[in-house]
Amino acid sequence: MFFTGTGLSAESGIPTYRGQGGIWNQYNYEDYACQRAFDAHPEKVWEFHEVRRDHIKRCPVNDGHKIIVEIEKHAPETVIVTQNIDGMHQRAGARNVIELHGSLWRARCPREGRAFDIPDVPMSTLKCECGAYMRPDIVWFEDPMNRESIDEAVTAISQCDIIITIGTSGMVFPAAQLPFFAVQKGIPSMEINLERTLLSNIYQYHLQGAASEILQNLWPDYSSRK
Ligand code: NAD
Repeated sequence: MFFTGTGLSAESGIPTYRGQGGIWNQYNYEDYACQRAFDAHPEKVWEFHEVRRDHIKRCPVNDGHKIIVEIEKHAPETVIVTQNIDGMHQRAGARNVIELHGSLWRARCPREGRAFDIPDVPMSTLKCECGAYMRPDIVWFEDPMNRESIDEAVTAISQCDIIITIGTSGMVFPAAQLPFFAVQKGIPSMEINLERTLLSNIYQYHLQGAASEILQNLWPDYSSRK
C-alpha cells in the first residue's frame, strides 16, 4: 500500500499547496478553491485550474512514480491511495489508484454529480445539460469527501501487508487519519519525507530524504535497469 501526497509529485515540478513555493502563499483559497467562489465567478475559478492543468501537462513523471509502477507490476495487489489530483500515478502507468481528492482531469456537474473525463478541453464555459456550469471534479475547501473513495481506501489500508506513506504533511484531514487504520493493527509502516511530519511518530520507520532517491534505494532493481 502506498499512501501518497504532493511531495511525490514535487520532484516533477508540480508545486505543493503549503510550504515554500506553495500555491496558497500566493492565492486565497476563498477566491479560487471553494464552491462559493465558483458560484460567484466560475470563469475565474476555471482559469485558475486551467493554469494548473496546463503546467502539470508539461511536467514529466519522475522516478518515484515509475518505481511505484514497477512494484505494482511485481506485486499486482499493490494499491495506491493518493491525495494528489494531478493524475501522475496513472500517467506513469499505475492501475490501482484511489484518488481521495478527485482529479483535475475530470469535470463534474455540481447539481447532478455526474463526472466526465476532460483531459484536453479547456472547460471554462462548459455547461451541463441541466444548465449548471461544470466544475473541476476535485475536493475543494468546504467540500465533503467522496464517501466511496474513503470507504475503498479504508478497506484497502486496513487489509494491507505494509503501508508506505510518501510526501504528505499529514495536515489535511480526514485523509491524514487513514494510515492509522493500518498502524493500529500493527501492520508494518514506513514514512518517506524530506522532513519529519506531525505523524512521523506513528510509523515504525521514518526515512528522511527525497522520495525518488529513497525509493531507488528500497528498489535497487530499478536503478540497474535504468
Ligand atoms: P502538503 O503540501 O501538505 O505537504 C507536502 C509534503 O511533502 C511535506 O511534508 C514535504 O516535506 C513533503 N515533500 C516535499 N517534497 C518532497 C520530496 N521530494 N520527497 C519527499 N517528501 C517531500 O501535501 P499533502 O499532504 O499531499 O496535502 C496537500 C493537499 O493539496 C492534498 O490534499 C492534495 O489534494 C492537494 N494538492 C495536490 C497537488 C497535486 O496533485 N500534485 C498539488 C498541490 C496540492
